[in-house]
Amino acid sequence: MKNNVRDVYDSLVGKLQEKSRLGAVLGILHWDQEVIMPKGGANSRARQIAVLSAVMHDKSTDPELKGMLDQLSQCPEAQFNEFEWSNIREAKRDYDLDTKVPRQLVKELAELSSRGHLIWAKAREDNQFSDFAPTLKRLIELKKEWADCVAPDKPAYDANIDIFERSATMAKISPLFEKLKKELIPLIRAISESGKMMDTAALTGKFPIAKQEALGRQISEDMGFSFEKGRMDVSVHPFSGGGDFTDVRITTRYSEDNFIESLYAVIHETGHGLYEQGRMQDWPDLPVSESLTMGVHESQSLFWERMIAQGRPFLTHYLPLIADTFPVQMNGVSVDGLYSAINQVAPSFIRVEADEVTYPLHVILRYEIEVGIFDGSLSVEELPEVWNQKMEEYLGLSPRTDSEGVLQDVHWSGGAFGYFPSYTLGAMYACQYYQALKKELPDIEDQVSRGELRPVREWLNKNIHRKGRLYSAEDLCQRVTGESLNSDHFIRYLKNKYGELYGINLG
Ligand code: ZN
Repeated sequence: MKNNVRDVYDSLVGKLQEKSRLGAVLGILHWDQEVIMPKGGANSRARQIAVLSAVMHDKSTDPELKGMLDQLSQCPEAQFNEFEWSNIREAKRDYDLDTKVPRQLVKELAELSSRGHLIWAKAREDNQFSDFAPTLKRLIELKKEWADCVAPDKPAYDANIDIFERSATMAKISPLFEKLKKELIPLIRAISESGKMMDTAALTGKFPIAKQEALGRQISEDMGFSFEKGRMDVSVHPFSGGGDFTDVRITTRYSEDNFIESLYAVIHETGHGLYEQGRMQDWPDLPVSESLTMGVHESQSLFWERMIAQGRPFLTHYLPLIADTFPVQMNGVSVDGLYSAINQVAPSFIRVEADEVTYPLHVILRYEIEVGIFDGSLSVEELPEVWNQKMEEYLGLSPRTDSEGVLQDVHWSGGAFGYFPSYTLGAMYACQYYQALKKELPDIEDQVSRGELRPVREWLNKNIHRKGRLYSAEDLCQRVTGESLNSDHFIRYLKNKYGELYGINLG
């Protein structure tokens, strides 16, 4: 019997690895499409991706896989080591998700999501929410049906959140977000009432793209990104993707008159890339070694972008290199000058352009709307108005058009409800992890100010990257920081940092 179980496990591993490798092929196809594919290849590429996705779906729903998973998950846990057992658990979850939904519903969702994208893009261009509303309504209905198939015992919105942020629920998220909202609205008001404007003159002018690229590459390499096992290219929207941990591809975009945007995109995507390159390598191509949740992934990019690279110690080390790269603009700029310029807070309409203080309110607004459309307390027709009311209440801004309001994000057009909370959960995880790092290595900021970034990377690698999917995001947070996710850390960090920057007393 014992041997038999071993054989079954080995066959399971074979099947899972095959699926994972096909996923890596898909990752390369996507990267190619975003980075170098000629425009004319779009239709063929869509067909290639559809065929490969169908093959992957057949592999994911293979009845033989079910037989193996049923047998293995009934064995005593002690028969397996921690990695193997986690692998069985994760594979079973994936299998259930892939098979609980009727084929017809899967098909309809896939079709409407891809059509929805085009309808949304046109509606946004025409600034006409009512053109997108019927599609949005249908997508919500389908996602409710879908939730009923995968988790009939849960509220529909929780089932949707679970896809991106496993085990997070409204019951857990709402109190964290309520607290944030209560603290951030007055903080943002105090910042604008301080009347202080940061001097951002050093960030304006002409910054040759070749120099921006060299600077980004240098810093990415210093952070520990391996260009032996990774690439950096240009795309319309920065992203990280690629094949597996030996072939990680990050992108940025350049504009001649703004080097900060591209540099911080490189740092952000390098944070994602380091997570991918640093995953457990003894168990490659298996569910257990995959990255954990969207929020944890985002915590890795935000850890580097915000906790490290927007801080004084990092700028202390890198100002000379930046000044060397752009001597005219940086002439006479101090560390404090650069620090305050890049940490300016300014409420804006568009989420992706928001700073770290106003960003959570963009997310909370979307979260509250999603809660409302899934529990039936909000109708699709009401969304533009509710959106604008909340913008006014949270950020003091009134969107003039649907395009700078309710139509700005791509997520809903693809049926990705429940995705938004991950951004802010990620920011909170990043902050809480950073406090834990400082406790463990009290002189880390001195090291960073000397350009020693290796201890940061190694700490993240040991505590997070190499844990793969062994634990839930909640358990991981507990292990790394000694407590559950707690918005107090993030609130305290923001109040200290911006209280000082804007010279305001926040009590
Ligand atoms: Zn990101």
